[in-house]
Amino acid sequence: MRIDLHTHSSISDGTDTPAELVLRAQQAGLDVVALTDHDTFAGLDEAVAEGQRLGLTVLRGMELSCSRHGNSVHLLAYGADPAAPALGAEMEKVRGGRMGRLAGVLQRLAELGVPVSEQQVLAEMGNSPSMGRPHIADAMVKAGHVRDRTEAFDRFLADGGPAHVQRYGIEIERGIDLVHEAGGVAVIAHPWGRGRESVLPPDLLRQLAAEHGLDGIEVDHHDHDLETRARLRQLAADLGLLATGSSDYHGTGKLDHDLGSNTTDPAVYHALVARLGVPARG
Ligand SMILES: [Zn+2]
Ligand SMILES: [Zn+2]
Repeated sequence: MRIDLHTHSSISDGTDTPAELVLRAQQAGLDVVALTDHDTFAGLDEAVAEGQRLGLTVLRGMELSCSRHGNSVHLLAYGADPAAPALGAEMEKVRGGRMGRLAGVLQRLAELGVPVSEQQVLAEMGNSPSMGRPHIADAMVKAGHVRDRTEAFDRFLADGGPAHVQRYGIEIERGIDLVHEAGGVAVIAHPWGRGRESVLPPDLLRQLAAEHGLDGIEVDHHDHDLETRARLRQLAADLGLLATGSSDYHGTGKLDHDLGSNTTDPAVYHALVARLGVPARG
């Protein structure tokens, strides 16, 4: 059984529609795929319907933009009720923050001599309700300022880069609580990828597990090297956390994140599914 619990469609910043993504998941030999677009549930019905048509299990997911002392932390939410009011209100605030940040980023890009217009970015968003930096990057590529998304991030858009602007994120403790209130399971995405280890040190993960009932951490992820994975796996075992693995697939929007390139152990998946729909834990 092959299980991939973290993917993005064109509803956020991937390039496949939800239905295309599910078809590709089947072609990649997956039995279970979770769609986890950023801060939106908008692609899930389409993905689940396509999964039913193809005989592939689609787990309903979402990647919630959280923060810890101003640093961004991503929280995967599985099986959260899209109608849960508190979670929905926070997600709307996050999406508003994404749009609000755009003006600041565009101003900096203009000052840096690589201008793109809001119109150009909106064109890259297509039908996505959740604006992200990859959309700005795509507009920069089309304008001829950079070769690809990677160069746009490396030179301008990455955290701490010259055109980076901080935006609203939910404090991670509250994010976990909101996901639980909505009957979902909370797993921190790529906790130690790209220098995040100092943001989420072992003591904090221990506290999130003990005081907020954090369910799991993503261990097998492209951004973690083998040594990091080994340490995270041990920490998960020590803390009784689920240790998941996933591709963080973005279609052609991110290289080296092919569907199924990292997977979740079936026993972990079954333990995760067993926790779905249990409201107000932690
Ligand atoms: Zn992420
Ligand atoms: Zn992701």
